[in-house]
Amino acid sequence: MTDAIDILQNTFGYEQFRSPQDDVIATLLDGGDALVLMPTGGGKSLCYQIPAIARNGCGIVISPLIALMQDQVDSLRESGVRASFLNSTLDRQEEAQVEKSLREGQLDLLYIAPERLIQPRTLSLLKQSNISLFAIDEAHCVSQWGHDFRADYLKLNVLHDEFPHVPRIALTATADKRTREEIISRLELTQATQYLAGFDRPNIRYTITLKHNPRNQLLRFLRNEHSNDAGIIYCLSRKKTEETAAWLGEQGFEALPYHAGLTSEIRSEHQARFLRDDGVIIVATIAFGMGIDKPDVRFVAHMDLPKTIESYYQETGRAGRDGLPADAWMIYGLQDVIKLRQMLNGAGGSEEHKRLEQHRLNAMLGLCEITSCRRHALLMHFDEQSAEHCGNCDTCLTPVDSWDGTQAAQKALSVVFRTGQRFGVNHLIDVLRGTETDKIFQFNHHHLPVHGIGTELDKNQWRSVFRQLMARGYISVDLDRFGGIRLEENCRPLLRGEETIELRRDVKQKVAKKQTRTPLPEDIDVGIWEALRECRRGLAQAQGVPPYIIFHDSTLQAMAGLMPKTLDEFGLLSGVGERKREKYGPVFLEVILNAKVNHI
Ligand code: ADP
Ligand code: ZN
Repeated sequence: MTDAIDILQNTFGYEQFRSPQDDVIATLLDGGDALVLMPTGGGKSLCYQIPAIARNGCGIVISPLIALMQDQVDSLRESGVRASFLNSTLDRQEEAQVEKSLREGQLDLLYIAPERLIQPRTLSLLKQSNISLFAIDEAHCVSQWGHDFRADYLKLNVLHDEFPHVPRIALTATADKRTREEIISRLELTQATQYLAGFDRPNIRYTITLKHNPRNQLLRFLRNEHSNDAGIIYCLSRKKTEETAAWLGEQGFEALPYHAGLTSEIRSEHQARFLRDDGVIIVATIAFGMGIDKPDVRFVAHMDLPKTIESYYQETGRAGRDGLPADAWMIYGLQDVIKLRQMLNGAGGSEEHKRLEQHRLNAMLGLCEITSCRRHALLMHFDEQSAEHCGNCDTCLTPVDSWDGTQAAQKALSVVFRTGQRFGVNHLIDVLRGTETDKIFQFNHHHLPVHGIGTELDKNQWRSVFRQLMARGYISVDLDRFGGIRLEENCRPLLRGEETIELRRDVKQKVAKKQTRTPLPEDIDVGIWEALRECRRGLAQAQGVPPYIIFHDSTLQAMAGLMPKTLDEFGLLSGVGERKREKYGPVFLEVILNAKVNHI
């Protein structure tokens, strides 16, 4: 283990292990197998990189994400690790070169895609080489029930059969119990020690706000809190991603659309700009995300409601991998609920499947409507215990009021019933409020006893009541009858007064509250910060790599805070190993010196 700590400090420049990295590494160094479940940004990579470096031979990393291999290898090489990859982007000659270095023992780490690994030719190459370990990344791809299933993963049990003495480690950030069991049985990892780190992402702040003027709300969020930051904005439709990106462009942001309808050239160009340039925003459908390993995504915004908590958690999880503060921000409203319910009803599949999907959507809606801590609810959903108040979500920071909505709910349900369960929310509200519209006269609704029984609430308050009734499944949208609202069986006790209901009091955020958190810690001078970023940008451009491969934001912040004067001091910064100290120390020290001189 002294070797491992040495590598952590000297090669990667980090002071200490995060739990359970040290235990995982010890297991592999001992020759054992491991299954590691850690949240995104938890630090999975070091779990196999360090033992691969410490052990004799080369570590083979199996990853489905070819697009990421270049980045991972660049990043390792920057730290002085002998890394390479074998995938379809190499030509014959490059390939032969990599194979030669593997055979000759000149590599610490080699990344290979699963389809390539299982070819007889590759297996025989590995047989002729000295292999220190196999790391199976994104191990949940072996699960046929998951979204990311890859048939080639099923064949990875070959590793156990062909290389019984080489330790194996499987890693994933997604794993309910069932997926975990599947990983173990399919990859023949029954002997593996399991390491389950929690799911929590404490640096992500969750905010779910009522949608009233989506573009303005988004603009205010971006201007107030993320004016120069990289982020992802998710929309439900392709059209909306393009319109939103174009509009953000007019507002002075660098925003690029991304969806499956764009050509693959455009998609990879947009993705590359997102990775390589500072502060680019991607406006995307869910087609974007898998395999985006950018550490400094400062926010993930949802303009539309995701269908399940699982997708919400996965998408928001792309923010703040580097551990610095990040935002998961979402707006949602009545229309989202109606639209998603309709989509589910209209979708194909068995009744059983539909019921399951409805159930998942209900859980998502529940998260939107709760008045207690969002993080607590999210973690509960994944069966994880946590404090009742996290202090870093909207409901913890600005507690919401609830009110006894029993009477209002009864009125709303009655008006649905009395008008024959075939009208939309706007008309129902007109009836409740006793408004005299043409439609009301046309259907003689001004003669109904419910006409005008709800003047105590305004339009928005009634919309809120209907939204919450729909979110909780008391009413639904009738697709066969032009989207009219209809009662559901379980509303009876409420209607008969045998049940009460607490509703959330919606507050329209009037003036944007200035967040207490500023993007930079207070002791950091913005001028120096910008100068350091500029220096990093220049170096990154010259080498054709993303800026975070030179240094992460956290390292740059430490630099701006400590303002090192010597190479030794520079080497103490978190994220600065020996190689980076020699390579970049002098350049950055000069920037710091100049910044100081100019200040005086
Ligand atoms: P994952 O693969 O689990 O999403 P990564 O391996 O990419 O996460 O690590 C996330 C971030 O945490 C990276 O920036 C990495 O350099 C950093 N990191 C990992 N382990 C440590 C550590 N022990 N000390 C400091 N930073 C770490
Ligand atoms: Zn909270």
